[in-house]
Amino acid sequence: MPGTTLDRSLAEELTAALSASGSATAPVIAPFTGDVLHELPLSSASDVLDATAAARVAQRAWRAAGFAHRRDVLLKAHDLLLADRERLMDVLQSETGKTRGQAFEEVFQGATVTRYYAVSAASVLRTRRRRAGIPLVLQTRVSYKPKGVVGVITPWNYPLSLSLMDVIPALAAGNAVVQKADNQGALSVLASRQAFIAAGVPEALWAVVAGDGNEIGNAVVDNCDYVCFTGSTATGTKVAERAAARLIGSSMELGGKNPLIVLDDVDPVKAAANAVYSCYSSMGQLCVSIERIYVQRAVADAFTKAFVARVSELVQGPAFDFSTDVGSLTTAAQLERVTAHVDDAVALGATVLTGGKARPDLGPLFFEPTVLTDVTDAMACAKNETFGPVVAIHVVDTAEEAVAEANASEFGLNSSIFSGSRSRARALADTIDAGSVNINEGYRATFSSIDAPMGGMKKSGLGRRNGREGILRFAEGRTVAESTGLLTLPRTGKEFAAMAGIMVTLLVALKTIRRR
Ligand code: NAD
Repeated sequence: MPGTTLDRSLAEELTAALSASGSATAPVIAPFTGDVLHELPLSSASDVLDATAAARVAQRAWRAAGFAHRRDVLLKAHDLLLADRERLMDVLQSETGKTRGQAFEEVFQGATVTRYYAVSAASVLRTRRRRAGIPLVLQTRVSYKPKGVVGVITPWNYPLSLSLMDVIPALAAGNAVVQKADNQGALSVLASRQAFIAAGVPEALWAVVAGDGNEIGNAVVDNCDYVCFTGSTATGTKVAERAAARLIGSSMELGGKNPLIVLDDVDPVKAAANAVYSCYSSMGQLCVSIERIYVQRAVADAFTKAFVARVSELVQGPAFDFSTDVGSLTTAAQLERVTAHVDDAVALGATVLTGGKARPDLGPLFFEPTVLTDVTDAMACAKNETFGPVVAIHVVDTAEEAVAEANASEFGLNSSIFSGSRSRARALADTIDAGSVNINEGYRATFSSIDAPMGGMKKSGLGRRNGREGILRFAEGRTVAESTGLLTLPRTGKEFAAMAGIMVTLLVALKTIRRR
């Protein structure tokens, strides 16, 4: 089929920018066809060392150039990203097997975070006065210093948007970045990086390395000043331990087993139509994707019928235009995992309401969007992240039961509530143990709200990306407090004796006026 493989010369042009000095390569497979997409040059640990050293030098000038310069460069990159969107979507689809629509969402999100941090970095990180310990006698300010070189480790599933959601705030705050891209997502990272280089980001300031997760990932963690990781809980735990051993900070964006609650006051057909997208976007290979649905009995039959009907109508296939609704899984390991979860569930008594099978007729890694019911805790897919197009529908009697089930997970990344009453849903949101709660949406309401923090509770992560929190993690707060000279602080016993009474009176007065 034409268009399912990438022009080799484009892949070579893009990978020329990788920090990889040796001759080792690894084949990257095109999900739509199973053909070799390109041979990826592999970095070594010493490439990471070299890249970090060069990034350190570049960072000094970048920091000194100031917020206004960085804002202008990033805003120019925003325009270049949009101008290059068709090519970016081609590369994204070639590497991940996702649909044109979901590739478009990545570019949209990438441009949004670029604009957001370009415009907001200066105000978030400007030096601010804080309350001094003793009013008038002392004055206190907090300023922010970039961390230096930020290590960013990214997965393959949303290689463009998840990368920019961490790289751009790090750059906007005045840091350099050494990014370890997943082998399957390196082209998308490098293609989007080109817009930033053309806009004025120095090449050495944002280095990209690829290769073995352990070897290259460890080298990044061992040499940077802060690390943000997006990936599985198992790997994230190792990365967090390694960072902690060096006493550097880290943020961990990890896995989820995200629940969606359908309350009895919904229009079940409308709710079903809206809920479907949140389960099958990028074939469910999305950290915030929904894998568990808890529906109240009163609307369960109507909701399930409408949901299954909608899922059965989804158009699946390899297409480099907007003609499909769902695409392919990305890797053979993903196909194996999804197949194993569905086979295990069926063997243990689950019912397949629709889907449940691979679609080799469409391509080697296609799997049908699948809806299960009668899923019990004995099944692998009940509590473990499938990270695929498989959702289980459970019927519950009350909203409280739905919340208890939703919270009965070691994860706490994303969640969703569908209700006819937004105020009822908001009240219920307060009882959910997850970093994000979407109302009458599956994940896009929170995921696109990049002014608000995103992250996980429990085993879904540590720290937050996006918003003020997303940029403050890349800076060290530094407190500068000074004596105004109005009064000398007591130093001797005699001076304390003279001032103790005044100071107690001051404390009482401060409390009376409720001063912080
Ligand atoms: P993964 O943990 O296998 O790999 C993620 C990245 O870490 C890759 O670049 C990989 O090469 C690298 N890596 C592997 N071993 C490493 C090590 N020892 N040290 C440092 N880096 C190492 O995850 P994956 O399979 O690529 O991604 C899927 C997982 O990511 C899912 O669990 C998904 O939920 C999660 N995810 C979370 C978010 C989020 O924002 N919370 C977003 C996307 C994906």
